[in-house]
Amino acid sequence: MLKAVFQGGDKIEIVSAPIPEPGAGEVLVQTSYCGLCGSDKRLFHNGTQNTPGHELTGIVRRNGPGATAPEGARVAVYIHPYCGQCRFCRVGETNRCINVLGGQIGFNRPGGYAQNVTVPASCLIELPPDISDAEGVLILDTIGTATYGVKYGLRALDSQARSGRAAVVGLGPLGLGSFHILSSLGMEGNVYAYDPAPVRMGAALGWGAKAIDPAGINPRGEFSLVVEASGQQAGRDLVFDLVEPGGCVVLFGQSPNPWIIQPHIKWRRKDFSIVHSFYFPIGMAAEFIDLFRARAGYYRQMISPIVPLEKLQEAFIDFCAGKTLKPLVKLG
Ligand SMILES: [Zn+2]
Ligand SMILES: [Zn+2]
Repeated sequence: MLKAVFQGGDKIEIVSAPIPEPGAGEVLVQTSYCGLCGSDKRLFHNGTQNTPGHELTGIVRRNGPGATAPEGARVAVYIHPYCGQCRFCRVGETNRCINVLGGQIGFNRPGGYAQNVTVPASCLIELPPDISDAEGVLILDTIGTATYGVKYGLRALDSQARSGRAAVVGLGPLGLGSFHILSSLGMEGNVYAYDPAPVRMGAALGWGAKAIDPAGINPRGEFSLVVEASGQQAGRDLVFDLVEPGGCVVLFGQSPNPWIIQPHIKWRRKDFSIVHSFYFPIGMAAEFIDLFRARAGYYRQMISPIVPLEKLQEAFIDFCAGKTLKPLVKLG
């Protein structure tokens, strides 16, 4: 099979490798598609031992010892292995598992920029017939992570005087997903957005977002829910101006850089919540599939471009430059 090796310095080599053997409780998945994600950028720049790729769909080919997944099933893969037995897993909060802290697929173990991958059988999400393998990628981070974090933030809103407006800073895949989810969850027409990249900003405006004017921001805050999906210090500074008293900032943007909160008189008297969110409970997948169906036309427009594995390096260069929305690599 073929797989990508991230060498660092923005170089990706495609090499042949043996098809991996599924271990106990694991299955072999033949990868169909894998989505590029902002959290891959660090690996693209710095290099890594494991094959990255954590937004993958594929077909179950073989069970390892003790696994009983239906062979031939079309699946999306949940990236967090979880124990299923700790107090969080027992109530379905698999994203909060306290026994399995590492082992994320595509980070700490091989991921989806390869034609085959082994994953825990408990991490399979079966795709219904009306969701294609390419569309299934969006069920994961773009819709799943966004929905879970946005709902968490909505629960934290505290003021009776809330404006009901939302803002999204950073319109990579997770920011665009957050825009769609906020629109689906009752804020359609009241979602504002900002990204310096014209392609991403243009897409959001075309789907009904309103533009945030960075020069005209009132630091007392006018937005009940503010999503930070840029991972940049400038975005992280901006969200504290945007959030209104009693509002909530949802932090999605991942960055290897330190995050410095500089106290400032502008928002010293403003009380608000901050939610940090990274992934979602696996049991919410059916809800994410319904959210995809509700705005399927928009989500299909997000999938762009689709490239072969041999073009992964070029796809990352364009993605890092903000020229594309949600690139997918086609492997199957
Ligand atoms: Zn991702
Ligand atoms: Zn657990």
